Amino acid sequence: MTTAQKLQQLLKSGYHRIGEIELQTDLYGYPYALCHQADVELSTEPAFGGLEIHHGPAAARDLSTYAEDGTYRFTKGQVNLKRGWVMVLESVQDLRLALDQFYPACLGLFLAQQDGSLEIETLREKLNRQTGMYRFARSISDAGAQQLVQTVCGPAHQCAKKILWKIDADTPLDDSEASRFNGIPNDLPATQAIPLLCREACNHFVAECRKAAKAEFEAKAASGA
Ligand code: SF4
Repeated sequence: MTTAQKLQQLLKSGYHRIGEIELQTDLYGYPYALCHQADVELSTEPAFGGLEIHHGPAAARDLSTYAEDGTYRFTKGQVNLKRGWVMVLESVQDLRLALDQFYPACLGLFLAQQDGSLEIETLREKLNRQTGMYRFARSISDAGAQQLVQTVCGPAHQCAKKILWKIDADTPLDDSEASRFNGIPNDLPATQAIPLLCREACNHFVAECRKAAKAEFEAKAASGA
C-alpha cells in the first residue's frame, strides 16, 4: 500500500488533524481541503468564509515558512502556523505533497511508528555526528541536556512535537511537561490526530546544546575546576 493510500485510510478511520492543520474531505466539491484548525468554521462557510484560497499544494512551502508576524519558523513543528487560508486539493497524492511541506516527514514517521519500523536516534548519537562549529555541542553534560529539553521543547516553547529520543540508550528524559507532551495539540483523542514525532533532536536543539556546552565550559574554567 502506498503512503497516499495509507493516508486515505487514516482519513476514513477518523483522523482529521495534523499539528495545527485541519484535514477536511468533500468540501464544496473538492475532495480534500486544508486550513489552520482555528479557521475550520470559516472554511465551511460559502466562499470559504473569505479565507485566501490556494489551489493545489504549491503554496504549502510559503505558507509554512513564516509566521503571521513575518518571523522565520525555526522548525515546521513550531506552533505559530499562519491563519487565514484554505488549500483545496484534487487528489490524495496532492494532499500528501502538501502535508510533506507543512510537516516534513511527519506522516511517514507516524506510519513507520505504526508498523514498528521507526528508528530513533539518541541525543548523544546525534551530537556525536556533529562536525565543524557544532562539534562542541558534544561536551554538554547530561544535566545540561535535560535542562534544555525543558527550556526548548514542548508547546510552552512553541514546539508541537512529541519527543521520542533519550539522552543515551540508558538515560531517559526527566519527567517534564515537554517530555510528556504527546504531539497532539489541543488534546484531541489519539484516534483523531496524526501526532508530530521528534525522532532525533532538531538543528535548533543542537545549536542550543552548543551554547549551553560553551557556558558550562566557561563556568568550569572560571571556577578553576
Ligand atoms: S528537539 Fe524536537 S521536540 Fe525539541 S524543539 Fe526540536 S523538534 Fe521540537
